[in-house]
Amino acid sequence: MAENPDHRSYDELFIGGRWRKPSSPERLTVISPHSEEPIGHVPTAGPEDVEAAVGAARTAFDHGPWPRMEPQERMRKIEGLAAIYGRNLDAMADLITAEMGSPRSFSRLGQAAGAASMIHLALAVARDFPWVERRQGVLGEAHLRRAPVGVVGAIVPWNVPQCLIMPKLIPALIAGCTVVLKPAPETPLDALWLAEMIEQADLPEGVVSVVTGGPDVGEALVRHPAVDKIAFTGSSATGRRIAALCGEQLKRVSLELGGKSAAIILDDADLDKTVAGLKTAGLMNNGQACVAQTRILVSERRHDEVVDALADMMSALHVGDPSDEKTDIGPLVAQRQQRRVQDYIRSGLQDGARLVVGGDDPPADRGWYVRPTLFTGATNDMRIAREEIFGPVLTVLTYRDEDDAVRIANDSDYGLAGSVWTADTAHGLDIAGRVRTGTYGINMYMLDISTPFGGFKNSGIGREFGPEGLDEYVELQSVACNGKLPPLPS
Ligand code: NAD
Repeated sequence: MAENPDHRSYDELFIGGRWRKPSSPERLTVISPHSEEPIGHVPTAGPEDVEAAVGAARTAFDHGPWPRMEPQERMRKIEGLAAIYGRNLDAMADLITAEMGSPRSFSRLGQAAGAASMIHLALAVARDFPWVERRQGVLGEAHLRRAPVGVVGAIVPWNVPQCLIMPKLIPALIAGCTVVLKPAPETPLDALWLAEMIEQADLPEGVVSVVTGGPDVGEALVRHPAVDKIAFTGSSATGRRIAALCGEQLKRVSLELGGKSAAIILDDADLDKTVAGLKTAGLMNNGQACVAQTRILVSERRHDEVVDALADMMSALHVGDPSDEKTDIGPLVAQRQQRRVQDYIRSGLQDGARLVVGGDDPPADRGWYVRPTLFTGATNDMRIAREEIFGPVLTVLTYRDEDDAVRIANDSDYGLAGSVWTADTAHGLDIAGRVRTGTYGINMYMLDISTPFGGFKNSGIGREFGPEGLDEYVELQSVACNGKLPPLPS
């Protein structure tokens, strides 16, 4: 087992369940977004490492015990992993904060504890899952079997790294798949620490590999003919490319992509509760959330009081060291991301939106920080209203009436999430039914990790969580029988 007490540097890759020297001398440096100092190193997987990981996964799937075990036997192994994981939550949260700048409070609850819950919820779903069933067909009784989809390539970004890995890795493993995981180059450390835990959980050889590196490593996985399915979370641009490559091979693919969600504030909404809710729903994880409610839709009648209340909330946010318990907004993951967000702020100004709070000047000399920024006077055709900014920037848009609010909410290439804020929850449900997004919140937006999550439109294909999330990792086999089928084991 790799002895690595601080989980900050790795010399080897986790290939087929064993630590192996990488084929290439190239290393990835993980840089603290707060101090801009290196905090760790990992190997970059070369083509030979991807080949070895996929080869091990293929052999384990075609010939190994894992897909041939009963689901309950696999679940026992995953319960073992959950126990190991559960003993390390605070340290995992702190590692993620160090890697990508998520404030400590969010890392503890929204990252590590959330990831642990995802393991337990996937196990609960699997206990009730119809692995085999009987159905009356036109030819007689049919036997239905849910078989593992095969070798899975799981590719994730850096914003909530463990919470993006778990809804792929765990259902895939429970279903009997073998998995090659490719974390983001910004957050390889938490993934390799998870590999150490997987090693302790003692899965059969070849079942899990972790290959660290950038887009080329991910693309090698997508192109590899021995990979049966790609499970991807990331930007819509990358998702489109991956879907095209998978299409050429008729490879299964599920995609969790970007968003530009609208929060519709109705005239009867409680202002204090709405603004308190939007603090999390719009700005969680420093605004680096695919589900962030970043377009704030308000009527002309309530515009001024909403903008004033949002401005007060945003001016009071504590921006600083993400390891500090008091911090609301930490740094963005990378200088590239800081510059990108600053560029969006400038584009808002150039397009004629009015800056209420914040701006493109950095709030600190060191660290990739961006001021929490609020725009109003924007229109839905501006870049700040159409494109995913992925930083602490909110844009207020004014609607004439409810139909107009729904129209603006739907006038987006994305369809990931949305919310409505109202005293009348029945009316809120009616609004939810008119908005084309995969998830919706009434007087809140939180992702419920026990219900299906995914996107309409350019926000993705497929669902994570719940039985639908497990369905993504099985193929359905129908067996007809000329004669009487033996009874199902009870
Ligand atoms: P990205 O698409 O650039 O990268 C995501 C992952 O894909 C990384 O591991 C990257 O190395 C890899 N990758 C990049 N190009 C690839 C290629 N051609 N082939 C294979 N792999 C490739 O995403 P990002 O900008 O780093 O992450 C932020 C994006 O992720 C945002 O758009 C955000 O909305 C989205 N996201 C979506 C969800 C969701 O559940 N819908 C959750 C979190 C983040």
